[in-house]
Amino acid sequence: MVHSKVVIIGSGPAAHTAAIYLSRAELKPVLYEGMLANGTAAGGQLTTTTDIENFPGFPDGIGGGELMEQMRKQSIRFGTEVITETISRVDLSQRPFKLWTEWNDGPDNEPARTADAVIIATGANARRLNLPGEETYWQNGISACAVCDGAVPIFRNKPLYVIGGGDSAAEEAMFLAKYGSTVTVLVRRDKLRASKAMANRLLSHPKVNVRFNTVAVEVLGEQKPMGLMTHLRVKNTVTGEEETVDANGLFYAVGHDPATALVKGSVDLDEDGYILTKPGTSYTSLEGVFACGDVQDKRYRQAITSAGSGCMAALDAEKFIAEHESPEEPAPVTETEKSNTATEYKSNPLL
Ligand code: FAD
Ligand code: NDP
Repeated sequence: MVHSKVVIIGSGPAAHTAAIYLSRAELKPVLYEGMLANGTAAGGQLTTTTDIENFPGFPDGIGGGELMEQMRKQSIRFGTEVITETISRVDLSQRPFKLWTEWNDGPDNEPARTADAVIIATGANARRLNLPGEETYWQNGISACAVCDGAVPIFRNKPLYVIGGGDSAAEEAMFLAKYGSTVTVLVRRDKLRASKAMANRLLSHPKVNVRFNTVAVEVLGEQKPMGLMTHLRVKNTVTGEEETVDANGLFYAVGHDPATALVKGSVDLDEDGYILTKPGTSYTSLEGVFACGDVQDKRYRQAITSAGSGCMAALDAEKFIAEHESPEEPAPVTETEKSNTATEYKSNPLL
């Protein structure tokens, strides 16, 4: 069994930003990047998309996979140990925390590693609907992120559809209205789940049409390889009537599943399963366990906000480790101490 001061679980922008900060602070972080954890390749959600145009520093855009490869290289460059295994079980009931991987998990097995601090950066997955045609046109007209993909040319002045009736659907539809000729929101029930304010804005938007009691049943489009979606088959759930409509974009806003099965019961989660953090920090309900990225953020869910919260988790973990260092082991000068004074920390009312 190996001991580390800090272990990071996850491999998206949050995990790697935390790793870059912690390795530069000479804390020798270990990052478990997962082996197809939750069905996503190491590198996280961005490995499932093409160009990222809203991550600062890349004026011409950068491929999602390439961006994550660069972040991984940067983590390793400063001394992060990246392990391509999925953490399958944790025991956070006492310190040092214990972690098992898929390869060594078993009732009698020793943990693969112990750690003084753990950063959870396991991300979230957008829910899909598994419609006929979805696999073919995923990222060729279908997306689960309007803010990420809405501005691309294939959607300009074209009829666009959003599925869902929550705040995300309302936000996405109003965002897409800047680009599409029209935006139609398909709501499966006879009412919206979105907050009243958002619902009112949505219903009064001149370019948005809301169709209640309506579901999508099939996505249709060009047959050629990499062809784009062109139509959507929709069904009225009350009358059973089906029709085919022109649709060049389809945006899912039917919720996300945060990857929190690992820590359920150990740290406090909100009613949707997201890790609760103390506002303005990465502190979870458990001392020594920090959370960053989409696993604790159901509102912004962007690469840059994930990266920003990864930085926060690293600085919070670094401070925690420094405060709990055993007296015989002199604490290294931390990255935080190099750039911040203790007074600055104390002056932050959130800490
Ligand atoms: P994630 O990217 O969710 O990655 C977490 C990863 O950790 C998992 O995927 C898995 O590989 C690993 N993991 C999970 N559990 C374990 C475990 N138990 N052990 C080990 N490893 C584990 N945002 C933008 O800002 N711009 C965009 O253009 C953009 N485009 C997007 C396009 C698509 C199709 C999608 C789905 C998302 C897009 N996003 C975009 C959103 C962005 O990808 C996310 O906000 C961001 O990736 C979240 O980062 P994260 O670090 O929280 O974790
Ligand atoms: P929600 O769970 O709130 O809404 C999901 C929507 O998708 C619901 O209308 C649901 O319908 C619908 N849906 C689910 N499954 C299907 C399906 N198979 N077919 C058709 N429709 C389906 O998720 P959101 O992502 O919208 O919001 C998550 C949380 O984040 C909420 O707490 C929300 O308030 C918050 N949020 C806040 C924002 C803000 O304040 N600006 C912005 C975005 C999110 P049904 O209602 O019938 O269950």
